[in-house]
Amino acid sequence: MGTKLVIIGGVAGGATAAARARRVSESAEITLVERGPYVSFANCGLPYYISGAITKRSKLLLQTPEGFDARYRVKVLVNTAAVEIDRKRHMVRLSGSPGQAEGGSGPSAIEYDKLILAQGGSPASPPIPGADSPNVFTLWTIPDVDRISAYLEKEGPRTALVAGGGFIGLEMAEAFRERGLDVTVVELLPRLMSVMDGEFGRMIEAKLAEKGVRVVTGAGLESVDYPSREARLSDGSRVPADIVLFSIGVRPELALAKASGLGIGSSGGLLVDDELRTSDPDIYAAGDMIEVTQAVSGKKVRVPLAGPANRQGRVAASNALGMRIKYRGAYGTSVVKLFDAAAASTGLTEKAAREAGMDVGSAMVFKDHHASYYPGSKELALKLVYDRKSSRILGAQAFGAEGVEKRIDVVATALRGKLTLQDLADLDLAYAPPFSSANDPVNVAAFVGLNDVSGLAPTETAAALKAAIAAARAAGGSVAVLDVRNRGEYEAAHVFGSLNVPVDELRFSLDSVPRGCRIHVHCRSGLRSYLAQRILKQSGFDDVVNVTGGFMAIQAEGGFDIKSGGE
Ligand code: FAD
Repeated sequence: MGTKLVIIGGVAGGATAAARARRVSESAEITLVERGPYVSFANCGLPYYISGAITKRSKLLLQTPEGFDARYRVKVLVNTAAVEIDRKRHMVRLSGSPGQAEGGSGPSAIEYDKLILAQGGSPASPPIPGADSPNVFTLWTIPDVDRISAYLEKEGPRTALVAGGGFIGLEMAEAFRERGLDVTVVELLPRLMSVMDGEFGRMIEAKLAEKGVRVVTGAGLESVDYPSREARLSDGSRVPADIVLFSIGVRPELALAKASGLGIGSSGGLLVDDELRTSDPDIYAAGDMIEVTQAVSGKKVRVPLAGPANRQGRVAASNALGMRIKYRGAYGTSVVKLFDAAAASTGLTEKAAREAGMDVGSAMVFKDHHASYYPGSKELALKLVYDRKSSRILGAQAFGAEGVEKRIDVVATALRGKLTLQDLADLDLAYAPPFSSANDPVNVAAFVGLNDVSGLAPTETAAALKAAIAAARAAGGSVAVLDVRNRGEYEAAHVFGSLNVPVDELRFSLDSVPRGCRIHVHCRSGLRSYLAQRILKQSGFDDVVNVTGGFMAIQAEGGFDIKSGGE
């Protein structure tokens, strides 16, 4: 008789675990217990069904109980909740199992040798007045998507409020907009997409504004008033809200694990070791419910994403059946579509790296996704975060219309290999004009970082420049900001008080540049200012820093005193 393997939860982590378990062992007796009516559905695809990009509901259902049985000989119990784990007797008690209600043959309990928990999480709902109104929804399952679709069709809402500016909130804002609704996104934090640094939140905000989505940041949703189809925000404003979607976070599903006395980790996820074994040696776990190691910082975190859940399901099943595979942590690599653009990130943000006490540097480049002379090139922003002492890559973020996820995936691979700036600069990436440039944006970002850490061309972020200006102003002084763009660019918009010397004139205008103080030099993207920095450095200016990402980064950062025309 083979191992009796019971898996609780039948979507990303659980379904992968079941399929892997069968591949590992033909003799295992595998049972998958799923509370909902469907197994292995495409929860990541749900917003695209609402938007209309996925037209057939059946496409969201990747596998059926019958299909699982036919291909993998996995017994699938849908509409069946695991309600208790009796660890002593190696027994899981079930409720709602098919047949139970009719006095039929469905089991009320099931024995296990090894158990895998893949129960995921559930979307948080704020305890505010009106949260239970008929026009308020969360999106997590197929029944959720059915409810939202039915409401859209029957009630014909014209305005939508999305509470929460993370992945699901932004995907749903786009979905509602694609269906012709007037959409407002409300985010409590000062910026959207808190998994990215602030300047990317602004880029995302600008993209949403371009597509007609209103964004309110720094304000919370206080109440929903169903009769007037309005919502009230913490800043006192009222927002039209024929339909409301909460996407304010995911809570790990831990009631069962806690009731059975399994250990909980410091981040609030289920505690597992590096073989994904819980505090009970016969119980493994995977997916949104567990705590994992952030593979760059070594901190314990929760990473509720589908990629990690799938890979963890594979590791948990393998180990439950006697293998010894380690799960080496997650980088939180992610990407979100934003109409005709995308935002993606991997590893640590600059903010997270600073909070972890690292000596952080960052390089921001704005570069076309393929050769600029080849038709269709689109500029993307890529920020590379690195440790200044060791030159080790810590993370990256990108935003743009094309090629965003490709760059982030390259850096994600670099993170797994613990690569340095030099390694990244040396990467031999595929190039022909329709695909990239001879120096890919990833190479270029690494060059900027190398020049920074080597001291050849030190950089600072737009945020650091903003802080320097504020500090100098508070002390009644000013900082020397040198703008080396051409005059037309400068007159269109520039940092108040900055000096304009176009780079091509700089060699002949050195007398106009102040001496004896730090020069903060910038151009549009950081490339011309790099040349200017080198000219200045070799002309006796000792302290010159290049604002990485230039005026583009300054605008994305926000909070600068920007002037247009001559001063
Ligand atoms: P889930 O997939 O949530 O599955 C857990 C299952 O366990 C559920 O079906 C639940 O019913 C069942 N269950 C719980 N308790 C019990 C019980 N007691 N008995 C029986 N069954 C139980 N991630 C990305 O990386 N990229 C994306 O683009 C992306 N988009 C997303 C879009 C949406 C709308 C949503 C909702 C999620 C998205 N995610 C995305 C996140 C991703 O789907 C999750 O990280 C992943 O599904 C987690 O897998 P899991 O197996 O841990 O949990």
